[in-house]
Parts: sequence; structure tokens; C-alpha cells
Amino acid sequence: MQRRTLLKLAALSTIGFSRAQAFAQPGRNISNTESITMNDVIIIGGSFAGLAAALQLGRARRNVTVLDTGLPRNRFAEHSHGVLGHDHKPPLDILAEARQQLARYPTVKLVNAQAASVSGNIDKFSVVTSAGNSLGARRLVLSYGVVDQMPDIPGFSEGWGGSIVPCPYCDGFEVAGQHWGLIWSGPQSHGQVKLFRDWTDRLTLFTHGQAISPDVRADLSRRNVPVVDGLITEIVQRGSHNATVKIETGHDVPVDVLFAHPRNKPSAGLHESLSLVTSNTPLGTVLKVDERRETSTPGIYAAGDLSNPLMPSVTTAVWQGAMAGIFAQQSMVV
Ligand SMILES: Cc1cc2nc3c(=O)[nH]c(=O)nc-3n(C[C@H](O)[C@H](O)[C@H](O)COP(=O)(O)OP(=O)(O)OC[C@H]3O[C@@H](n4cnc5c(N)ncnc54)[C@H](O)[C@@H]3O)c2cc1C
Repeated sequence: MQRRTLLKLAALSTIGFSRAQAFAQPGRNISNTESITMNDVIIIGGSFAGLAAALQLGRARRNVTVLDTGLPRNRFAEHSHGVLGHDHKPPLDILAEARQQLARYPTVKLVNAQAASVSGNIDKFSVVTSAGNSLGARRLVLSYGVVDQMPDIPGFSEGWGGSIVPCPYCDGFEVAGQHWGLIWSGPQSHGQVKLFRDWTDRLTLFTHGQAISPDVRADLSRRNVPVVDGLITEIVQRGSHNATVKIETGHDVPVDVLFAHPRNKPSAGLHESLSLVTSNTPLGTVLKVDERRETSTPGIYAAGDLSNPLMPSVTTAVWQGAMAGIFAQQSMVV
């Protein structure tokens, strides 16, 4: 992780810590058996989706506590792209600005804490933090995101967010027309090959030991996409985007950027303990929600990458978070 990113993460934690300290002042202390704060809503995960939910709820003057551990998925990227009004800003700057704006709303509390367990039912949910603090709420918004699982290839995690990226909408424009690489992650990668043509006609596909059917190989050949077989043994970074992909055969392939789609998993297992219904995507698991972003359990809403099977992004997380906040609030109107 770059020094600049580390400093920002530290700053983010500090903001959260001061609020957490206020939260744990003498006289306001809490135990893990007794709920002292009955919120309208507890939001678990205070990044793009969670803060967007908090903003709507705060503007509706609802009591909200946002619990967050400060690890947004795109923290490895130097810039965030495709977000209206915030294009090409460092992702942690966007979040810091959002937190600052939320300070206007007296009913919104931002707490730097990890939700460790959740129990209860609509109107009586209880959340216990890893520090043992217990909070109550009538509704929950789950927005704790997903974690990308780095493959065991030397250089992969070091390059993630720089020379190795997942999404052409996020990072394609800056390297358009250049030589791209793509690590095959399953049949959905064939769709990526077609998609990438809007950015470049210089693409090399790395199978990394995965089987590709003969008809797909024929289509790749028709599209002039070379296929490099064999396991990748190392990815060597060269500058901010460029990388050299080393293959077990001794073949080295330099690329100007490498696209990859590692599997991911939810950042926490709280939905499992709540037995919420999930669905599988080619790369992981997401929570099922209805059109009001309510999960399979009444009173529990979900937003952001944790519940987005199609196109995870900052914009979609913010939209879904706003919807979850609004529908949670409307469900409490008498
Ligand atoms: C390398 C990379 C680059 C990207 N670039 C872009 C881009 O340029 N533009 C774009 O639109 N999208 C980009 N994305 C996608 C974007 O990062 C996600 O879509 C977005 O972060 C989803 O927001 P979210 O709020 O759902 O989840 P996240 O941003 O992942 O936030 C989840 C939050 O929940 C917290 N949390 C987790 N568990 C707990 C718990 N138990 N208790 C309390 N808090 C918890 C985490 O610390 C985190 O702060 C990129 C992704 C990657 C991997």
C-alpha cells in the first residue's frame, strides 16, 4: 500500500476514533448484555453505500449509528473514476468529504468499530461490536462490502489497484489504445474480451491453467486476441500501470495494464448468522434484496457490493445506499 494511502487511512481512523471515544464516555458506557442506545437504524459498513444511507436518514432526522472499520474495497486505487462530481479523486478523499458533510446532521453518529454479531427481529435488533459494546435498532442496513481474495501469484497483491485492476469503466480510459492483458477467470471473461474492444484492440489473454473451450479459442483467434497458456509464476510491476507477466514456460509478456477478477467474499459473516438468503455470482456471493432493498428478513436492508450481483461501483453503491436508507425510514412511518 502506498504511503499516501496509509496516511489517509490513518486520518480516517482518527476521525472515527474521536467519535468512538465520545460514544464511550463515562456515564454512557455500555456492556455487552444491555442495549443503551435505541437507534432507528444501525448501518454496518460506513463507506460509499453506508454513508449514502446515513445521509438520507440524517436528513429525515432519524437516529442512526454507522459502524465502520475503514477498509473500503477500492482503497488500493490512487484515483476513483466514473463518479459524477468526484471523477479522478482519491477514493479516501471522497469518503472523508462525505463524512465531513454528515457532521451537519446531529442524529447521525459515525463510529469506528467492527460489528461482531447481530441478533433480534424487526423493531428490536441488537448489534454487538468487537469491543463488546451493544446497541439496539429498529432497522439494520448491511453495507459491509466484499473482500477480493488475492490469488497466490507473487506480485499480484502488490500490483492490485495499480498495474492490476478489475474494471474498464474505472481504469480503462487512462490506458486506452495500449496493450492490455486479461487473466481468464471463467466463461464471463469471454464477455470481457468483447467489452474491452471499446478501449483497445491490443489484448492478450492469460489462461493461468484454466481450460478454454475450442469454440471460444476460435472466436479469440478471429478477434486477433493471442492466448498465452501456462501458469503465471510472477507479475513484476513496472511503474504505475505497466507489468511483466511471467509464465512457467519461461515466456515473459509485458503489458501496459493487466485486468483480473479474483473471487471475492463478503467482508463479514453477519448475514450468515441472520440466515439471510444469498445468491451466487461467477465471482462470489451476494445478499438477495427486493426492489426496496429489503433482504429476506423484514427490517434488514442491504446495499453496495454486498448485494450487487451486476455492476459493483461507487455510483451503484451510493444509489443503493440512498434507496436502503429511504426505504428503511419509510418502513417506520406510522
Ligand atoms: C482496485 C479497485 C478499484 C476500483 N475503482 C473504482 C473506480 O474507479 N470507480 C468506481 O466506481 N468503483 C471502483 N471500484 C469499486 C468500488 O470500490 C466498490 O464498488 C465500492 O467500494 C463499494 O462500496 P461499498 O460501500 O458497497 O463497500 P466498501 O467500499 O467496500 O465498504 C465497506 C465498508 O464496510 C466496512 N466493514 C466491513 N466489515 C465491517 C464490520 N463487520 N463492521 C463495520 N464495518 C465493516 C469496511 O471497512 C468498509 O469501510 C474499485 C474496486 C477495486 C477493487
